[in-house]
Amino acid sequence: MEEPKISQSRQDEIMCRNCGAKLVFEPGTDSLKCGFCGALNEISVDEDEKIKAIQELDFESYIGSQADIAPKIEILAVKCDSCGAETTFDPNIVSSECDFCGSPLVSREAHKTGIIEPKAILPFKINKKAGYELFEKWLKKLWFAPNKLKTRAKRVEDLAGIYTPYWTYDTDTYTEYIGERGDDYETEETSYNDDGEEVTTTVTKTRWTSVSGRVKAFFDDIMVPASNSLSQKHINKLEPWDLENLVPYDTKYLSGFKSETYRVSLEEGFDVAKRRIEPLIRNDIRRDIGGDRQKISSMNTEYASTTFKHILLPIWLSAYKYNNKVYHFMINGRTGEVQGERPWSWIKITLAVLAGLALIGAIIWFSKDA
Ligand SMILES: [Zn+2]
Ligand SMILES: [Zn+2]
Repeated sequence: MEEPKISQSRQDEIMCRNCGAKLVFEPGTDSLKCGFCGALNEISVDEDEKIKAIQELDFESYIGSQADIAPKIEILAVKCDSCGAETTFDPNIVSSECDFCGSPLVSREAHKTGIIEPKAILPFKINKKAGYELFEKWLKKLWFAPNKLKTRAKRVEDLAGIYTPYWTYDTDTYTEYIGERGDDYETEETSYNDDGEEVTTTVTKTRWTSVSGRVKAFFDDIMVPASNSLSQKHINKLEPWDLENLVPYDTKYLSGFKSETYRVSLEEGFDVAKRRIEPLIRNDIRRDIGGDRQKISSMNTEYASTTFKHILLPIWLSAYKYNNKVYHFMINGRTGEVQGERPWSWIKITLAVLAGLALIGAIIWFSKDA
């Protein structure tokens, strides 16, 4: 087994060529920016690495008994005792609060952990200032939000730039099914009405026949969030991601940012992927059965030549606490798509309902008078 390599930029790699100060990745560019003299230091991308970054890895050789011997890298990470989120440790951004739940980070000690190396990364395109403006705009537009929330002075610093882990899967599927095909036909039925007259009506009926068959389909880049720190519902709504712009994983893109380590295992992630593609396979089966109506009584899918990639995608995140509950606000760091959880002010809603009822009452009162 290969010695795991420590995945951290060498200090000289993230030092300004101009003045020697520390560099951080500048969103929207392919460069690191010097916080001291402002110089941009371009990140060089090796063409061979670029090809490797989009290559998929064989799923089977990373799961089960193979998992232990599969190539991995070691990273330095800090874990939140409260919510379990684990992020890479950047000695330059030592936070006192967890970015995911807002709890104080008790143990701020970094520990080493082995992970499947990310193959590719989508660098941030939207910078922190733009992200914060989107957050402010979103807060302002909230209807029936508690006043305290809107007036609470949020700081730009409260927005954390985090690379979130995703698994993407490619798989060839073969599905055998048993079901029924329904063909509609029209028939005339005779009945008698209340006056005893004969009435003929045309009715549609379905003739059902048993069918069985096989469909095959290839699925490309089924995405599964590998972090369970954020709600699946919201994180899925951040899609689509411009995966065509993935670049080879390089820790330089992480400079000034954090990345979360995956908590959904490669195998668990594939189960999620299977659930995502099942409705698509069902559609294929219905098309294969044909006719006017279809019933699927059983289906059995085999997955072959499954491959995967571990990729990191950029999200601006704010975890804000309100009444001891944590709400997440997140932005797709590429497209600016905004998703957020929010508290409701029941006082405001009640007042609005009462005002509405009063208005209706007034209208009735005055129209009665007129
Ligand atoms: Zn500099
Ligand atoms: Zn936490």
